[in-house]
Amino acid sequence: MYYRIVSGNYLYESLYMKDQRSDLGLGLSSVLKKLGAMTSIRDTNMVEQSLLRTLGPLLGVLETSFYRIDDNGGVIRALYHSHKVVDKDGVKHIVDNVGEVINGKEIPEAVGNLFDNVHMLRKACSRKLDEGLLICYPVYGVKGLLGYFVFQRDREVAPVEDAIIQGVLEVFTNYFDLLDTSQRDQLTGLLNRYSLEANLDRLWNILSARLHDANNGHTMRVIVPESYWLSVLDIDHFKKINDTYGHTIGDEVLIMVTRLLQASFRQSDLLYRYGGEEFIAILAANDFQSVTQALERVRTKIERFPFPQVGHITISGGFSSADPGVLPQEVINRADSALYAAKNAGRNRIYHYDTLIREGVLKEVNAGDIDLF
Ligand code: GH3
Ligand code: MG
Ligand code: MG
Repeated sequence: MYYRIVSGNYLYESLYMKDQRSDLGLGLSSVLKKLGAMTSIRDTNMVEQSLLRTLGPLLGVLETSFYRIDDNGGVIRALYHSHKVVDKDGVKHIVDNVGEVINGKEIPEAVGNLFDNVHMLRKACSRKLDEGLLICYPVYGVKGLLGYFVFQRDREVAPVEDAIIQGVLEVFTNYFDLLDTSQRDQLTGLLNRYSLEANLDRLWNILSARLHDANNGHTMRVIVPESYWLSVLDIDHFKKINDTYGHTIGDEVLIMVTRLLQASFRQSDLLYRYGGEEFIAILAANDFQSVTQALERVRTKIERFPFPQVGHITISGGFSSADPGVLPQEVINRADSALYAAKNAGRNRIYHYDTLIREGVLKEVNAGDIDLF
């Protein structure tokens, strides 16, 4: 899967330009201002963007990137930032663009090689290109390597610049870790309901942009026939587990179910603890068949797993396609009503909303009509 979106044009007044031109000494107030702005954001993705907006102008480079990696070192997201000066009605503005690649497999070779060096040496490295230098800084969080900050420039980083980059990266990672913790559920470590809302908005923007490009006949490499699906999964008769074995064992079951879900889905799929014993998974799949298989695989995996003391348990689920033409909450409602149908049909099964509608099992529902489990 590969696509790139360009979102948000931010026009800055020419006043701001003074800071862009200035050397690092003069840029200090700008750095402080930007760090202030960065730490006022409450969303990890936005903080990543802010990092690039802070460092690019400071280093006098027009393009910067941040490659976010997973625990195994694979790139899960690449964020690009570029800015250029435009003359609009005689006033100079900076046009700021942010692009994003999810599951980017097309990392430039030179960048990929540089990652290997940086990873091995655990410090910033540079590589000579035909034009200028490619420079890469590792970005460490409390849990290890978070990603790489990359930019291209005509000269090496001076010691004073290096100190500022390191300082900004440190503020960034401390703040990022703090935010990341607040976006996670304490028991399972999964993303929580709060971050689901923010991520759905982001995903919907990406999907809408893709739809928009497709409708306008754009031939960017954006359009790949891949779709997203949202599923709600709920442990069957979980209350009985608590009642029979106690809350602590119940908690352990929740943790084990989480691990089974994580092991079944792909690293790039997003998994949230939506409620007590309810999970939401957002899956990228090429077609209906593969998403059905993925969810069935999860269902049978849990059905077969021998939970210590408790024995066997099951889950039920409902899913719906993440259609950017429908509001995210409505997609959740659809998946939820399919889950409700799965429970009514005897549990331990996964139902697809559109199929239920087609078969007349469910009627189209209005947002807000659904009972949650
Ligand atoms: P159904 O098959 O219809 O989903 O039945 P259920 O018993 O799973 O559903 P119900 O909504 O009746 O009960 C959910 C239970 O989950 C009730 C609540 O006490 C328990 N629960 C919620 N959060 C936690 C938690 O963090 N730890 C534990 N141990 N239990 C939890
Ligand atoms: Mg339940
Ligand atoms: Mg429930």
